[in-house]
Amino acid sequence: MFKKVLIANRGEIAVRIIRTLRKMNIKSVAVCSTADRDALHVKMADEHYCIGDPPPVSSYLNMQAIIKAAIDSGAEAVHPGYGFLAENPEFARKVQEAGLVFIGPDPFASETMGNKTRARKHVSEAGVPIVPGTEDIKSIHEAVEFAEKVGFPVIIKAASGGGGIGMKIVNRREDLESAIEEAQNRAKQAFGDATVYIEKYVSNPHHIEIQILADNYGNTIHIFERECSVQRRHQKVIEETPSPFIDINKVEEMGESAIRAARSVNYKNAGTIEFLVDDKKNHYFLEMNTRLQVEHPVTEMTTGIDLVEWQIRIAAGEKLNLSQPQIKREGHAIECRIYAEDPVRFYPSPGLIKKYSEPSGENIRVDSGVYEGFKVPMYYDPLLAKLIVWGKTRDEAIERMKYALDNFIIEGPKTNIPFLREMMEFPEFVEGRYDTHVIERFFQWKKSK
Ligand code: ADP
Repeated sequence: MFKKVLIANRGEIAVRIIRTLRKMNIKSVAVCSTADRDALHVKMADEHYCIGDPPPVSSYLNMQAIIKAAIDSGAEAVHPGYGFLAENPEFARKVQEAGLVFIGPDPFASETMGNKTRARKHVSEAGVPIVPGTEDIKSIHEAVEFAEKVGFPVIIKAASGGGGIGMKIVNRREDLESAIEEAQNRAKQAFGDATVYIEKYVSNPHHIEIQILADNYGNTIHIFERECSVQRRHQKVIEETPSPFIDINKVEEMGESAIRAARSVNYKNAGTIEFLVDDKKNHYFLEMNTRLQVEHPVTEMTTGIDLVEWQIRIAAGEKLNLSQPQIKREGHAIECRIYAEDPVRFYPSPGLIKKYSEPSGENIRVDSGVYEGFKVPMYYDPLLAKLIVWGKTRDEAIERMKYALDNFIIEGPKTNIPFLREMMEFPEFVEGRYDTHVIERFFQWKKSK
């Protein structure tokens, strides 16, 4: 096993990784930007290296500086967390070339899955259902032909997209051309790649994903699903498992598709296959995230499996000692993402945390990256913490979440806690009959109250 691991990330996920490293008696090395010198992950790590100025390009995306810190510290492996360089095949390759172990899949997997049209083609050839769509759009003619064949609305997406950015829904033929141009410009700006493609717009879908683990010896298992349909601007806010929408037979069927998708790129380590599920419960591959997901704790809470520990074990060459029939789950887990943001308009709200107190109690887990007195920098994602609860039943989990949200005190930056608390009362959520448009309907419900 490794003796020392560098974490190429910040915030709650860096802290969460350090926790497992400690449990495994592995020394942790943090990296930070100059804006993060007092950050929690820096305080918690056994040692730290300041790698650059606050903008991510100078620090958390600065491959050279991170790899130098790893070498200087004597770390043997690098855990990338999520975001930043986690899915960058060039980084994984450079880490390996420096003689270090990258805690994640081989660069080939992230390279193939990192491009949406390439990934769709790849998994489709392996027999995984995909949302009907085009390849990279080269002419308006192709776009019109496809849209007229499947019918409007359609959704334009960036081939290199992520984070819900650059998607555009088109309802009418006459809007298609200008929408493509706009999407290309946004894609170019956000990802440096103007390539877009078109998918059929699935109405009122569910976003349900499957967690997988794969070792270096050909063992690939799935660890059930996560329902991630509570989204704002196509980004997740609340996740839960089991999904209230599908039964275990459907989960098994999706699990098989997920394993097939993972095997198609010879996947190793932890990964997630995201699916859209339509109202008839057909599932379609959306994308594969070749890293740890933000919402992984709900899987951990219901299965007792430490996913970060398995990421590290697999990277160190250990065999998965879990076989598919051994993977069992119990009860229900819900996660709320606590953001420093305006609870109505969802704008980031960084700044000094004047007061901070976490809820505690049985079956309540808080994965936090902040503390009282910390100044939340403006340069990064405004996720402060994740609140995860477990209950024997879904109703019990919701009740516990209400209690936990009521007892989570954060003063200084605005947070979305009031929004999350109200969601726990929204009939559609409480009854578990929501889809990806639930937040729009939540605001209509609030207005009508
Ligand atoms: P990103 O990689 O930018 O996060 P995804 O492809 O994962 O984008 O999609 C994010 C969300 O956007 C989905 O969870 C879903 O809510 C919505 N979405 C994406 N594609 C479609 C589609 N074809 N039809 C309907 N909704 C979609």
